[in-house]
This record gives sequence, C-alpha cells and structure tokens, in this order.
Amino acid sequence: MNGSNLDNLYRQVIMDHYKSPRNKGLKGFKSAHIKNPSCGDDITIEADIQNDKIVHLNHEGTGCSICCSSASVMCELLEGKSISDAQRIIKKYNDMIKGEEIDDEDELEEALVYQGVCKFPARVKCATISWKALEKLVSGDDDE
Ligand code: ZN
Repeated sequence: MNGSNLDNLYRQVIMDHYKSPRNKGLKGFKSAHIKNPSCGDDITIEADIQNDKIVHLNHEGTGCSICCSSASVMCELLEGKSISDAQRIIKKYNDMIKGEEIDDEDELEEALVYQGVCKFPARVKCATISWKALEKLVSGDDDE
C-alpha cells in the first residue's frame, strides 16, 4: 500500500468513529474529565472497573474529529482489558504519538491510525486527551 492510500484508510477510520462513535454516553460510573482549551475539546471518560478489569468504558463530550474519534477508538480497544494491559497499551499509544519506535504495534489495532499525529504537534493533545483521562481513572488518581 502506498503512502496516500494508507492516509486515506486512516482518514476513513477516523471519520467512521467520529460520525458513529462507539461506547458514547455516560452511565454513571467513575469518571474523569479533561479539557483542551486550545482546540475546544471537552471529554469525559468513565470506566466500570471490577477486579482489576475494565468491564465498561464510555465517553461523552465535544471536540474535533481527532479528539472524538480517538475517544471512541480507545473505548472499543480497551473495554474488557485488565488494568495492567490497559496501562501498557496507553503507554504504547503515548510513545507512538511522540513519534517513538514501538514494539508489537498490532496490539494498538485501530489506534494505529493516529500514528501520523506526531507530525502535527498542535494535534497531539487532541489525540491523547481521552487516553490521559483514562490513565487518571485506572491509576486511581482522584481529583473529585
Ligand atoms: Zn482537538
């Protein structure tokens, strides 16, 4: 696949999740809220965590296509994962966004589409805001 086809595929995944978000809508589980004033992104992530496992993972909020689609991609990818798996995948995603080499990238599944974001520093916050919120939730960092 050449570079522009790949970009096209990435854009399709992003627009699909933006237009038809998965796991959207809060159910009242423990949540974390983060805003990105530079872009107007405003995201809440909530997780139902039982026995060190993320049983349900939902998001709600408004923002740009990168921000909203990545919330949807993340919820779909990490729902059902153990806390330790989720933390490893979050770290891997953050490393990828920073443009670092990562091992076993298949584990990121659809989240790989944000790979190119490292070339656009202004969009890095958009692509990581939901992941930061979840990181806060699973680390038990409570600011409520
Ligand atoms: Zn944004």
